[in-house]
Amino acid sequence: MNVTAYSNNLLQLTRLVAFNCYLVREDDGFTLIDTNMSGQAQAIMQVASQLGLPIVRIVLTHAHVDHVGSLDALHEALPNAQVAISERDARFLTGDTSLDSSEPQVPLRGGYPVCRTVPTRLLHEGDRIGSLEVIATPGHTPGHLALIDTRDRALIAGDAFQTQGGVAVAGTFEWLFPLPALATWHKGLALESARKLLALQPSMLDVGHGRMLENPQAAIERAIRVMEQSLAKEERKRPHVA
Ligand SMILES: [Zn+2]
Repeated sequence: MNVTAYSNNLLQLTRLVAFNCYLVREDDGFTLIDTNMSGQAQAIMQVASQLGLPIVRIVLTHAHVDHVGSLDALHEALPNAQVAISERDARFLTGDTSLDSSEPQVPLRGGYPVCRTVPTRLLHEGDRIGSLEVIATPGHTPGHLALIDTRDRALIAGDAFQTQGGVAVAGTFEWLFPLPALATWHKGLALESARKLLALQPSMLDVGHGRMLENPQAAIERAIRVMEQSLAKEERKRPHVA
């Protein structure tokens, strides 16, 4: 795995150019954010041990296969590490892919593998996990969450945005890296979540796919405008029933 240190507290671990997970340094060890594709557990643990700190928590931004792929292997190797995910996306880990009646009834997209690991903590908006604050950001998946580091306002946004192939809100089709768009459940909610994250005034944007972006406000504003225009276009094309 390719390791990039973005600050004292934040390391990006990258597999195959575009698939990221993160280590966040805390006083008691590392919080691992997302677990990459399957087969990456050893490589992730090796990075942590080279840096001399144990992984004490695993936080999942959402339940897609390229974020939970190595969860079971990591949990087996690190049975005492806390495993946390939003209460909503936790259901996907059990194989339950039903939608709630209060949710938009549009089909889920992307791979949601069944995992043996049972989360030990279910997260909600506003929760604190180490130095990170939980922000509910539905859209890419129903229970997607982002995390902001309260020490330096680094935003770990999961797939709410991508920077690979262009800075984009989840659901915006980027020809150079279309995967996040193809796996996005609901673009309207993704847009609302993007606005919510912009309002937090992050100091840097760290995403599931692509490199870190420093002072990301202007790029996020542009990405939001692109999504607004694309949704307006879709709205005009939709047949209106009188
Ligand atoms: Zn995803």
